[in-house]
Amino acid sequence: MNMDVSKITNATNNADELNEVKKVDDINTTDAFDEVDEFDPVDIKFMERAYELAQQAEQIDEIPVGAIVVANGEIIGEGFNQSITLNDPSAHAEMLAIKQAGQSLQNYRMLDCTLYVTLEPCPMCAGLLVHSRIKRLVFAANDLKTGAAGSAFNLVNHEKHNHQIETTKGVLAEQCGNLLSAFFKRRRAEIKAKKKANKASQL
Ligand SMILES: [Zn+2]
Repeated sequence: MNMDVSKITNATNNADELNEVKKVDDINTTDAFDEVDEFDPVDIKFMERAYELAQQAEQIDEIPVGAIVVANGEIIGEGFNQSITLNDPSAHAEMLAIKQAGQSLQNYRMLDCTLYVTLEPCPMCAGLLVHSRIKRLVFAANDLKTGAAGSAFNLVNHEKHNHQIETTKGVLAEQCGNLLSAFFKRRRAEIKAKKKANKASQL
């Protein structure tokens, strides 16, 4: 996904942090409910693994997004959001999963692969997917503000690109979206509490 929350240990950025965590309102899961019966059990199974990875991100206070790359029914790359931990704004779940898949395949193209991710990819990751020539994208929750697979932009199926990506959205959208919403809610409360504590200590 596409946003970075500054480290909570950095007190000077509290206002920015609070602003960033307001993102909770932009995560949308409702579209998925109507389609839920149509999802392929294989897609659900793989999205469950992406969800587990998102939970790993949550445990280290990173925005909980997880991604995997699948080729011939096997997972060949995994990643979860680690931008803060790695001091790397490009360390999104999709980016890390694709890098690992490239090593597994010993190839910079992912021609017959599918990427599963718990949140709609940002423009950077959507661009990466086009570069990778990945065949298919499956994502869970929509990101209404910055999602680049149809919500804010559509970079995975753009007429000016020479590669189009087959896309399925909404798989485990409620589950993955709730994880994100709960995370932003918790962070917001933590940041507010810290601001309050800082103020009190200055009196
Ligand atoms: Zn991204």
